[in-house]
Amino acid sequence: MDLFVYNTLAKKVEKFVPFKYPVGMYTCGPTVYDFAHIGNFRTYIVEDLIKRTLILNGYKVVHVMNITDVGHLTDDQDQGEDKVELSAQKEKKSAWEIAEFYTNAFLDDLKKLNILMPDYMPKATEHIKEMIDLIKILEKKGYTYRTSDGIYFDTSKLKDYGKLVGKKIELIPGLRVEIGEKKNPTDFALWKFSPKEKKRQMEWDSPWGVGFPGWHIECSAMSMKYLGEQFDIHCGGIDHIPVHHTNEIAQSEAATEKIPFVFYWIHVNFLVLKNQKKMAKSEGNVILVKDLQERGFSPLDFRYLVLSCHYQSFLEFSFEALESSKNSLKRLREIVSGFEKKEVVNDFWKNKILEKINDNFNFPEALSNVWTMLRSDLSQEEKIGTLLYFDQIFGLNLDEEIYKKIDELPEEIRNLIQEREILRKNKNFVEADKIREKIKSLGYEIIDTISGPKVRKSTN
Ligand code: AMP
Ligand code: ZN
Repeated sequence: MDLFVYNTLAKKVEKFVPFKYPVGMYTCGPTVYDFAHIGNFRTYIVEDLIKRTLILNGYKVVHVMNITDVGHLTDDQDQGEDKVELSAQKEKKSAWEIAEFYTNAFLDDLKKLNILMPDYMPKATEHIKEMIDLIKILEKKGYTYRTSDGIYFDTSKLKDYGKLVGKKIELIPGLRVEIGEKKNPTDFALWKFSPKEKKRQMEWDSPWGVGFPGWHIECSAMSMKYLGEQFDIHCGGIDHIPVHHTNEIAQSEAATEKIPFVFYWIHVNFLVLKNQKKMAKSEGNVILVKDLQERGFSPLDFRYLVLSCHYQSFLEFSFEALESSKNSLKRLREIVSGFEKKEVVNDFWKNKILEKINDNFNFPEALSNVWTMLRSDLSQEEKIGTLLYFDQIFGLNLDEEIYKKIDELPEEIRNLIQEREILRKNKNFVEADKIREKIKSLGYEIIDTISGPKVRKSTN
């Protein structure tokens, strides 16, 4: 079945035709100066749903999510302070400790929300050389200039700068008061010099002077390192369209001369509060995953809420809405629990629901079809089989009761599963099947899903 996605670059829904095998997917990761809030996690959950959709459609995906542990400044105009260094001062810890602490907190939350781990999670501080090399190329090609505080990208040198936004971002030269020493308001820092008055903790030598990389160059350097100079999908929140992603495109295409840098740009709308205010740290209105838990919700209740709203619409968060998601999820769990027969996927509903998902990730419609299917006179085996089939994408862990936790299985079975996974990784499917048979003879059935092998007691 074809997959259709809204591409911010094309400004329309397009059929997804992969450029490369496996499909490369880059999602902008967190700046690790504080806990990520549920607004951020809306975006990360949607990205996970997109990735799982690709996998269920048969694509192999290489997913990269960076960790921004340096260079993200408190304002988008390349002034202000480095968020990680500022947080270090406030919390009286080193910048490295701050980055490590909040990276671990972020990873914990990803797990709680059942987000599949990316294949690579590169840290900006471990890719300084790649960034310097990229800036050197831009310098050689004449795209850079120096000011007293750093090396900047001259956006007036590109004819199609700003194409992700659509209308041409006005290039007004010479507005000295507002733009400082920049030549154009849209120019941005590739490398910032360490301030003279204050000693930075995170700084590196470069051909231009001691300093640190700009935020945008990080994503260009790290995405190209792991996915190549051109790749399929790049995601993020809609706030990244006019500056961060626009600048990523500009510097990447200027450096490689390969156009487009990325074929499909997918952007997730904001999580807002009742007054339509975006959830953001600067607004002082953030809610964390642990806050939800403290109020008696499971992180997966929030995942259900995210599923029930189209990713291109505002998600208006309220605890009443979360309560209703919690009840729906509870109902789904009740339907699955106690089921001991063999589940069967129903083809009619499989196609009907996948069609909605493949139509630009219309999860609200897909969910509503799931409920219609569950209310129909389909057999229990088919209802549950179809529900669990799609839970591979939904990620609500509905099969928790049916499948055993791998680490609670007898050691012999665990070892066999591990052995089989290695064989499968090495594409030795004949031997892997033999192990499946052996596991079966010991009374367990193994099922391969998007999130790995699952095991249950044999039903026959
Ligand atoms: P940041 O750490 O600010 O770069 O944000 C991490 C990700 O969360 C980015 O993809 C942002 O676009 C996204 N994001 C930030 N605030 C919100 C929000 N209120 N709702 C949804 N996504 C958000
Ligand atoms: Zn990024």
